[in-house]
Amino acid sequence: MTTQQANAQEVPLLKSYIGGQWVAGSTGELYPDINPATGELLANTSVAGAAEVDQAVQKAQDAFRQWRALPAPRRGEILFRAAQLIRERKEALAQLMSREMGKVLFEARGEVQEAIDEFFYMAGEGRRLFGFTTPSEMPDKFACCVRDPVGVVGLITPWNFPVAVPSWKLSPALIAGNTIVWKPAEDTPMVALEFARLLEEAGLPPGVVNVVLGPGPATGAPLVEHPGVRVIAFTGSTATGTFIATEGARRGKRVLLEMGGKNAITVMDDADLDLAVEGILWSAFGTSGQRCTAASRLIVHRKVVDELTERLVAEAPRLRIGNPLDEGTQIGPIVNQKQLERVHRYTGIGMEEGARLLCGGETYTEGDCAKGFFYRPTLFADVRPDMRIAQEEIFGPTAVMISVDSLEEAIAVNNDTPYGLSSSIYTRDINRAMRAARDLTTGIVYINHGTTGAEVHLPFGGTRGTGNGHREAAVQALDAFTEWKAIYVDYSGRLQRAQIDT
Ligand code: NAP
Repeated sequence: MTTQQANAQEVPLLKSYIGGQWVAGSTGELYPDINPATGELLANTSVAGAAEVDQAVQKAQDAFRQWRALPAPRRGEILFRAAQLIRERKEALAQLMSREMGKVLFEARGEVQEAIDEFFYMAGEGRRLFGFTTPSEMPDKFACCVRDPVGVVGLITPWNFPVAVPSWKLSPALIAGNTIVWKPAEDTPMVALEFARLLEEAGLPPGVVNVVLGPGPATGAPLVEHPGVRVIAFTGSTATGTFIATEGARRGKRVLLEMGGKNAITVMDDADLDLAVEGILWSAFGTSGQRCTAASRLIVHRKVVDELTERLVAEAPRLRIGNPLDEGTQIGPIVNQKQLERVHRYTGIGMEEGARLLCGGETYTEGDCAKGFFYRPTLFADVRPDMRIAQEEIFGPTAVMISVDSLEEAIAVNNDTPYGLSSSIYTRDINRAMRAARDLTTGIVYINHGTTGAEVHLPFGGTRGTGNGHREAAVQALDAFTEWKAIYVDYSGRLQRAQIDT
């Protein structure tokens, strides 16, 4: 459905949250919020434009003075309360997420748990935010380094992790003393507003977090361009991220990028195949393959390729496709019609390239699923590493199998894509596992575990086209949202010139 087709009546109208007030967009446009499992119109978004973005940035600038002056342990207490509230509302948030973007309920609960963990973790940083001291080269002089907030931070986030990804950005940015203007994805505005309400309830002063609603070009672009925004923290596709980085660089901004992936699971000839099959099904088809860490390439030792293929072809079609709110559902819908078409287009590309379709490769329209955007788990065999289906991010329930003859070949294939988020290897040989951990060039490596399952106290992010050197989560997340300030205290009572009077 297009903006023009959005039905203005009968459903809630969603407004931006600016300085603690609900503000309608001055563009006059509405954007529909659709349940991808049923096609139901859940709400309409009043699209914010440059005027609302400017208003939000001003409110964030005003709030910055007060928020940065609040001692970090007090900021931590507010984040702690937020974590408690997210925990209390876990089920409601998970159900809303499920309805809005189609994640199956047990995964949605896991995602909310990640936000809880992240907020508790960053609340604790309020009593750390460690800097360091170091000896001065001069006598009677003290030197130390502290983290300073940067100012107003712009967040731009995707629909596929509408709670966890914003939490990875909101909580470190807030604990460090920054204020925020957040543009969530147009497909998940309701979850974002629930989050804003919850943060307000936790005690966040008005203007510290502002949410501007609308599509990327209308609402995200003015945020990137705004001179009052010092940092842009973006998660999304590599194409959009590259554009934002270019625009940000032209304006001297710091841009944190978390982008696409083409993650691989390697299965060696000594692997526990039962474990590998479970890991592959979960990593390739969970969230219908719409995870940045989804395993979309299976690099399989030639000696076990037939057995693994047989097992996967037996298991993948058994995964239960359906409404994500039904407890038994394992595979929910694709987020929208456009993305469904993209996934199916790649099936056609794979066949044209000469890959062998093993299962799936078509939409799933049984029963009520006909009203939504469902796709069958899809597997390709006889795939060459240079094929488009082995190189490009499909972002759907599609995995391709590439046969190899050695660990060295597997590692070379794994590393040879434009992306570098996560890799996994199944082997019982500790020497092979350690060599893989050393030589796989992705930001995350799993041994005997699928490509998904990051924990909030370890840094998250990728190399090559996945990122630009920053990391989210863990203490490393603070680097994106702080400036290092070096402080020299001379208590000699005389002029001491560094490098001269030594
Ligand atoms: P996307 O199309 O790039 O959108 C991401 C965000 O950017 C959305 O909020 C989008 O707004 C906004 N946007 C689009 N055009 C913009 C512009 N010109 N200026 C400013 N903002 C703009 O990505 P997506 O389809 O939502 O998300 C899927 C992608 O995210 C995949 O590539 C996935 O791998 C990646 N991802 C990466 C990670 C990671 O940590 N590496 C985590 C999750 C997802 P609208 O959608 O509202 O138009």
